[in-house]
Amino acid sequence: MNIALFGAPGSGKGTQGNLIAQKFGYIHLSSGEILRGEIAANSAWGIEAEKYISKGMLVPDDLIINILEIKIDENKSAKGMIFDGFPRTIVQAEELETMLGKHGKKINVMIEVYVDEKTLFNRLVLRGKNSGRSDDTPETIYKRLAVYHEQTAPVMEFYKRTNRYQSVDNNSSVEECFEQICKLVRKLIS
Ligand code: AMP
Repeated sequence: MNIALFGAPGSGKGTQGNLIAQKFGYIHLSSGEILRGEIAANSAWGIEAEKYISKGMLVPDDLIINILEIKIDENKSAKGMIFDGFPRTIVQAEELETMLGKHGKKINVMIEVYVDEKTLFNRLVLRGKNSGRSDDTPETIYKRLAVYHEQTAPVMEFYKRTNRYQSVDNNSSVEECFEQICKLVRKLIS
C-alpha cells in the first residue's frame, strides 16, 4: 500500500503521515523533513535546497526526485510507503510512477488533507512561533500558499484522472481526520 498524502502547507499532513505510519507499519517519507535534514547536514543538496525553501519556493524537480529515488530504493521492501509533500508538481508525479514501477509498485491512493485557507494561515503563523522554521514567517507563508495553488494543486487532477483521488477533512481535530484516513486505508487493504 503506497499513499501520497496531499495538502496545502499547514494542512497537518505531516502529523497524519506519522500516525498512519505508526498504525499500519508503513514508512513515512516526508520530503520537507528530508530536505531539512540535508540542510542541517550542510550537504550540497541541502545548501542548494535552502536557497529555495527560505523564499517559500519549490526546490527544483531534479533535486527532490534524486533524493526521493534513493529513499524509495532503500525502502523497497517496506509493506507500505507514505509520501508526504511529494509529488508537488506533475513532473514529480510522473517520475514517481516510474520510480515505483521499477520495483513493481505504484501509488494506490492519493489522499488530500483539506483545510480551509483562513485556518491554514492561522495554523502556520502559530507554528512559526514555535517551530523555528525559516519558512514559517507571514511573508513566506503567503508565498507557499500561492505556490501550492499554482504548482501543486494540479497534481490532484493527475490522480483524479486515474481514479486514485480521495479527500478527508482536517478542519476540526487530528483524531477525526485520522479516523477518516484509517477508514479509507482499511477499505483499500481489505
Ligand atoms: P514542507 O515541510 O512539506 O512544507 O516543505 C517545506 C519546503 O520544502 C517547501 O516549501 C519546499 O520549498 C520544499 N519542498 C518539500 N517538498 C518538496 C517537493 N516535493 N518539491 C519541491 N520542493 C519541496
